Amino acid sequence: MRSFEENLRLYAQLTIKEGLGLAVDQELILSAEIDQRPFVHLLVEEAYRAGAKNVEVLWKDPEVIKTRLRDGSDAAVAYAPTWLYDGITQAHKDGAARLGVASSDPQMLAGLSPERISISSTAASRATKATSELVSGFAINWCIVGAASVDWASRVFPDLSATEGVTKLWEKIFMASRILEEDPLAAWATHCETLESKVVYLNGLKLAALHFTGPGTDLTVGLVEGHEWAGGRGYSKNGIRCSPNIPTEEVFTMPHRANVNGVVSSTMPLSLRGQMVDKIRAEFKDGVAVIVTAGVGQSAFENLINTDDGARRLGEVALVPNSCKVGQTGTLFLNTLYDENAACHIAMGASYSENLTGIDDMTDEEKLERGANDSLIHVDWMIGSDQIDIDGILGDGSRVPLMKSGEWV
Ligand code: ZN
Ligand code: ZN
Repeated sequence: MRSFEENLRLYAQLTIKEGLGLAVDQELILSAEIDQRPFVHLLVEEAYRAGAKNVEVLWKDPEVIKTRLRDGSDAAVAYAPTWLYDGITQAHKDGAARLGVASSDPQMLAGLSPERISISSTAASRATKATSELVSGFAINWCIVGAASVDWASRVFPDLSATEGVTKLWEKIFMASRILEEDPLAAWATHCETLESKVVYLNGLKLAALHFTGPGTDLTVGLVEGHEWAGGRGYSKNGIRCSPNIPTEEVFTMPHRANVNGVVSSTMPLSLRGQMVDKIRAEFKDGVAVIVTAGVGQSAFENLINTDDGARRLGEVALVPNSCKVGQTGTLFLNTLYDENAACHIAMGASYSENLTGIDDMTDEEKLERGANDSLIHVDWMIGSDQIDIDGILGDGSRVPLMKSGEWV
C-alpha cells in the first residue's frame, strides 16, 4: 500500500498529465483556496516538470468572500472586477491552460442573504462570461479536480474529528479518481476508452429524445438534431487532449432548448453557490421549467433560474450508471464535481458547444434556432438513482432501453 504522500503525488501527476495534458512552454492559471497549499505546491512542481512557462496561482480566501457579502455595501456586492477577468481572458486567448482545485465548504455561504449571493454571482458570471466561453467551448485545455478541506470534510462526515474527516475524504477522492489502482495513469486511460466506446454507441443511435421515468419523474428530453455525445477526455481546439473533470463518469449531450416536457425530481441535495438546495421538483413545458419547487433552499434555486431566459431551460443531459467508481465510494460528497459523476443529471443554463458539430460557424440566432441554449449560468442537478429507467427514443418513435434501475442495459 502506498503512503498518503505518494498517492497525493500521483494525483498531482494525473491532474497535470491526463487532466490538463499541459504542453511544454504553456502557461497555466490555477485557482485554489488558501488551505490547499501542500497540494497546490505539488501541482506547481509537476507543471514546471512538464515544461510550463509560468504557473499563476489565483488564491481564494473564503473569509474574504464572506466578508464582502456580509459587510459590503450593495454596490460592493454588485461589483465584479472586470479588469481582472479581462486579463485572464487575454491569457487564455494567448494559450494559457486552466486548472481549478475544488475544496469549498458546501455550505460556505449558509446564513447570508440569498439575494445578495445571487446579485454577486450574476455580476461575477457576467464578468467571467468571455473566459467561461473559452473554457466551456474547449478553446483551451482545462481541468477541475477536488481536494479535501476541513470545512468540506466536516459536512460530509459530521461525526468524525477534523483530522479523521479530512483523511477519509482524501481516501474517497483517491478512490473516485482511480489513484488507488496499481497504475493510476494507465487506469485513467483505460477508463476513458470505456467512456469513449459509450459515446460511439450513443452517437450511432442518432436519438431524437431521452425518456426518464421513476418516482417523481416522467421527463422527455428532446435532443438537438445532429447532437454529439461526449465524455471522458477530448481534444481542445488548441490540439491538446485533456480530461476536464477528475473524476469523470458521465457521457453527456445537448438537449433541445425548446423541447423538454414533463416532470422531474432531484435525487440528491445540491450545493449551490455555497448554499444547500434539496428536493427539487420541476415541471417543463416546451423546454421551460414553468413550475419549480425545492424543499430546501427554494429562494437560492429560484434566484438561479431567474438569472436570464436560458436559466429556465436545459443545456446538458448526462448519463451515469450508479455502480460507477464515484458511486462505489458510497459517499454523498455535497460537491457537484463528485455527485454529478455518481448519478444521471441535467443542467440548467448554457449548453456545451462540443455537443453540436459546426456550432462555431453559426450565428447566435442560428444556435438558438437549432436548439442550443445560452445563459450566464450552467448548474447541474442530479436526477438519477437505482429507481430510474431511461429509454432512448428514435426518430420514428421506437424505443431503445438505455438504462434500467440506474444501470446500463
Ligand atoms: Zn455533466
Ligand atoms: Zn454540467
